[in-house]
Amino acid sequence: MEKRVPQILIIYTGGTIGMVKDYKTNALKPFDFENLKTKIPELNLLECSLKTTAFEQPIDSSDMSPDYWITIAEIIELNYKDTDGFVVLTGTDTMSYTASAMSFILENLRKPVIFTGSQLPIGDLRTDAKENLITAIQVASAFENGEPVVQEVGLYFEYKLYRANRTTKVSAEQFEAFQSPNYPNLGESGVHLLFNRQFLKRSKSELPLKIQKNLDANVVILKLFPGIQRGLVEYILNFPDLHGVVLETYGAGNAPTDSWFFEILIKTIQRGIPIVNVTQCISGGVFMGLYETSTRMKSIGVINGKNITTESAVAKLKLMLGLKIPSTEFKQKFETQIRGEMS
Ligand code: ASP
Repeated sequence: MEKRVPQILIIYTGGTIGMVKDYKTNALKPFDFENLKTKIPELNLLECSLKTTAFEQPIDSSDMSPDYWITIAEIIELNYKDTDGFVVLTGTDTMSYTASAMSFILENLRKPVIFTGSQLPIGDLRTDAKENLITAIQVASAFENGEPVVQEVGLYFEYKLYRANRTTKVSAEQFEAFQSPNYPNLGESGVHLLFNRQFLKRSKSELPLKIQKNLDANVVILKLFPGIQRGLVEYILNFPDLHGVVLETYGAGNAPTDSWFFEILIKTIQRGIPIVNVTQCISGGVFMGLYETSTRMKSIGVINGKNITTESAVAKLKLMLGLKIPSTEFKQKFETQIRGEMS
């Protein structure tokens, strides 16, 4: 019997990976993705069948927004039945936000959705784009016993495969631009492409893919810093359309002990606005109650973000607010992991 080759869909949204240099003007411009194989003939060697689709107007990922997240999710939904794996190309700057959001938007996902991009354009002599793209496609087409090896949203970059909602961009310079500080890598590309099987997500649900389109846009990230002013905190947290707050605190979740600060937090929570405590540290997480400075936060009902990244916290908050979860259940639901985003 002839071996069936996996069908892979590449979704190009924009970013450096899809750019080529116009040697007349020296400016970077998006290249025609329809001609992907002429630019990267190595793709002909892959044991899969490739289809491509691109945003009509490719965007820099600084312009990425929840509306674009939904556009990407709808492309995946539309092609889900006939496609074995997806590779999503975006700029690296906000890739962790987009990829984290995708992990929440796509419910009951059983197929690989692999994000990648590059630090240098595809036509550049020293580009990282080719390796990232080729291996991301290989990850998306990896099958074992008739089922995809990866069944979640991943992010592949510079020889490493990560759980997308655990990643953060850590370098604007190095090829190794991403890290997953609080969760082991899902795989590594060396001489062989190896998967860390014990860390891959497996869903018991047999339910069909569902996409959650109602995301609440009215959330804010408030990062604490020494000397933060009362008037400023008051102004931000009293914003009339505010629905949720990601509070970036110090270390294991600590905040100043000033009474004005707590009064504002209490009033915000009383208005039904959830506040999620996440750490500013790159690794580790919130441990409310370890120090006096966080014990109060716990007692007034601040949500424990544990070791979630800021990027994931924003996405999860938008999703849960969009689901209109009652405020009495909100804290407990947020503190429960739903896509392997916290531990
Ligand atoms: N500014 C670009 C973007 O995020 C950088 C990149 O593609 O890596 O779209």
